[in-house]
Amino acid sequence: MSASLTTTFDDKNSETSTLTSPTLVLNCGSSSIKYALISDDNSTRITGLAENLGLDTARIKHTTLNGEKLEISIPGGRHKLALQKILELLEQYHFIAVGHRVVHGGREYSKAVRVDEHALEEVKRLKILAPLHNPANALGIEAVQAIYPDMPQVVVFDTAFHQTMPPVAFRYALPKYLYEEHKIRRYGFHGTSHAYVSERTSQITEAKGPHGWLTAHLGNGCSAAAVYDGKSLDTSMGLTPLEGLMMGTRSGDVDPSLHMHLKRQLGMSLEETDKMLNNDSGLLGISGLSNDLRTIEQAASEGHEDAQLAIEMFCYRAGKYLASLSCALPEFTGIVFTGGIGENSDITRNKILAVMRHFGIKIDADKNASLVRGKEGSFHADDSSIELWVVPTDEECRIAQETRQALNLI
Ligand code: AMP
Repeated sequence: MSASLTTTFDDKNSETSTLTSPTLVLNCGSSSIKYALISDDNSTRITGLAENLGLDTARIKHTTLNGEKLEISIPGGRHKLALQKILELLEQYHFIAVGHRVVHGGREYSKAVRVDEHALEEVKRLKILAPLHNPANALGIEAVQAIYPDMPQVVVFDTAFHQTMPPVAFRYALPKYLYEEHKIRRYGFHGTSHAYVSERTSQITEAKGPHGWLTAHLGNGCSAAAVYDGKSLDTSMGLTPLEGLMMGTRSGDVDPSLHMHLKRQLGMSLEETDKMLNNDSGLLGISGLSNDLRTIEQAASEGHEDAQLAIEMFCYRAGKYLASLSCALPEFTGIVFTGGIGENSDITRNKILAVMRHFGIKIDADKNASLVRGKEGSFHADDSSIELWVVPTDEECRIAQETRQALNLI
């Protein structure tokens, strides 16, 4: 495929859009594949989602360049079939590279790299640290290789951005051999999101750099990071994405003796406790209703006490974590909120910041309430000690950018 093809596409409404030298971004999960085809200037994209893979209800939801929505059923279809169909849908746009979001890059990768035999083996080997995700990521790489053997592919690791953390932040207080021989350490996740929003906020703030941001990615998964001068210095997730903040279905921090205690008291196996901490805890576990904050906010407003507690706990723990992460920053310029909750819930932002009551933070209530999803903007009052921002995350854009960088296309 040529490296500079421009595709022009006329739809029924006779709108004309172009996708110049697009990059295909693939995010292969255990039962889903998210994809985006992004033009080289990041201005245009085609997006889609293959979901319920392996089930009778497996399907691809595709949005065309001009916003038309298609749904393609692939009953029983798994990753390989879904990717074949996705590549068929996108072939006409002559993409020049594929960037894969890979959850775990271990210790070896501090930036995106071109896929070769070694990189693919590493992605597979690191399933010991990300058993649900890395095997699916490897399947995605191999499926593209099978159809387009010469297509340049890049792996962009969720952990890579946090490889700048110093040992005080990334080591656990455990015997040294566990780190040296078994790679037991804190890695951190959501790296592309923290990288994207911290860089974007540095572009739009008027504050002079270098900037020290606390970035709060609050969605179904939640994590926070301390980013100074473009480098991650600490983050809330650890060896796995379970550590840290309370999340939709994940507990975040618990006493490390919990597994042992539940085994002794309830006869629960390690696997049962692990599943409970990942799938049945967090907002869902406390509210007993849902992992979706909108449902919980609605119930809380109607007096549901467990829903009220879920919100209070979520905000208390987020505020407490942000306060502690501020210790990692040489200078504290501000806090950036992102993710479905961070971008949309002004009530949650208010409550989290109220927890940090000794920091001299002042909110402009009107600005806070007027920020809606998809819109970036600040909401600090003029006399606030630090800046407050909402910046919608765009992990696909960041992955496309890192893919092009790794291939020396920019
Ligand atoms: P994400 O994983 O980034 O898509 O975020 C999902 C979370 O964002 C869920 O808990 C949703 O309930 C929450 N969310 C999305 N929109 C809103 C909203 N308007 N108000 C409150 N929470 C929202």
